[in-house]
Amino acid sequence: MTSQIITIGIPGAAGRMGRMLIREIDAAPDLKLVAATDRAGIDAIGQDSGLLAGTGSNGVIIGDDPAGLGIADVIIDFTSPAASVAHAGMASEHRCALVVGTTGLGEADETALRAAADGTALVYCANTSVGVTLLGKLVEQVAAQLVEGWEIEILESHHHHKVDAPSGTALALGHAAARGRGVELDDVADMVRKGQTGARREGDIGFAVLRGGDVTGEHSVIFYGDSERVEISHRATDRAIFARGALRAARFAAAANPGFYKMEDVLAG
Ligand code: NAD
Repeated sequence: MTSQIITIGIPGAAGRMGRMLIREIDAAPDLKLVAATDRAGIDAIGQDSGLLAGTGSNGVIIGDDPAGLGIADVIIDFTSPAASVAHAGMASEHRCALVVGTTGLGEADETALRAAADGTALVYCANTSVGVTLLGKLVEQVAAQLVEGWEIEILESHHHHKVDAPSGTALALGHAAARGRGVELDDVADMVRKGQTGARREGDIGFAVLRGGDVTGEHSVIFYGDSERVEISHRATDRAIFARGALRAARFAAAANPGFYKMEDVLAG
């Protein structure tokens, strides 16, 4: 039996996640990087993507034309919301599978991804870590059990470069907790507390955000009871976990039928 090589395209190749993905692809015998792009006008355009990522020259030059990604079996996109939406349209047109890990997408952006998934397999996940995916399931279960007299707060910390808040993962955990309670997160989320806020509203799910240093990503969902507290936490100490999860999603997407998938589908598949 011959093993099939899956070819990969990386937009945002000069970014933190882009470079990490290129290192992890280099170490994976079943994957091959065939295209790399980034924003027009930045210094990385025209550079060897392997040299930039620290793996040694791989001959894949970073271009600024997204259509160049169309030769790949799977595009793995950790860029910006606008870029991810554009890449989804392109992937659908070229029939490339797509993994989107970008966070901070609005409702309209997600609708655009879902539309693109009519034509290709698309995995969208704000946190591609296996541990966090399991955490979401646990949070939903615990939220369903600890109801009367229990109050839910979500705390997240990230490095000072992060541009969106609360993190996509914190929001996903909020949605999981809300599902467990049988409510919509939008109806119970308390995102900002300042000044005379009044007492905590019963049933709210509160969010708190810390930014600083080089924190890769830390999330805690805290269930406050009367004289007791349950805390479910995840700490990422190396962003390689997100890249490895994204590669697992890419292998899944390469074999999947067109459709919109989450990380839970990848772990179950
Ligand atoms: P970064 O700023 O280091 O990298 C983003 C890269 O995308 C940059 O090189 C930028 O130039 C590039 N880019 C922007 N617009 C582009 C376009 N139109 N075409 C091609 N490239 C473009 O950021 P990062 O830390 O690598 O994170 C990227 C995204 O991934 C963020 O949304 C972040 O929150 C998210 N993220 C998700 C996970 C996860 O598990 N899903 C983990 C870490 C980061």
